[in-house]
Amino acid sequence: MIMRKTQLNRVFNCQKCGDCCKGYGGIFVNDREIKDISNYLKIEQEEFIDRYCELSGKRYMLKTCGSTGYCIFWEGLCSIHPVKPGLCKTWPFLECVLVDSTNFITIKSACPGVSREISIDEFIACVRAYHCSRNVQS
Ligand code: SF4
Ligand code: SF4
Repeated sequence: MIMRKTQLNRVFNCQKCGDCCKGYGGIFVNDREIKDISNYLKIEQEEFIDRYCELSGKRYMLKTCGSTGYCIFWEGLCSIHPVKPGLCKTWPFLECVLVDSTNFITIKSACPGVSREISIDEFIACVRAYHCSRNVQS
């Protein structure tokens, strides 16, 4: 099933509240994302890692601004939107709801953009369709 824009809009409309960009850690960047974001910022990858990333275990994740709690790239909106990491692009259609449907409750409570009327089953169908659409496009 391919996801249609009308279907997406019925389930999710981003309110641009920034809540998903706030909170410590969790936004990991892989090699490809490091390269893409560095290119977007027109800096070397080493500089990008030094200025904007920190290690979590053996992986890099984006820094959080200590004073505000927001991601280092949050400036009222995402300042690297075209190249933001995969997790940010995917949110709130996270595949974890396919493993455990109760994750829907967490996602819905964390994101005011998710329709208040949508059922778990409808949301799961949308997550499936969303990822199916992405696979078709890539
Ligand atoms: S929490 Fe949801 S509504 Fe708010 S900015 Fe993030 S995606 Fe948009
Ligand atoms: S990269 Fe952009 S979308 Fe992702 S958490 Fe940071 S500000 Fe938010």
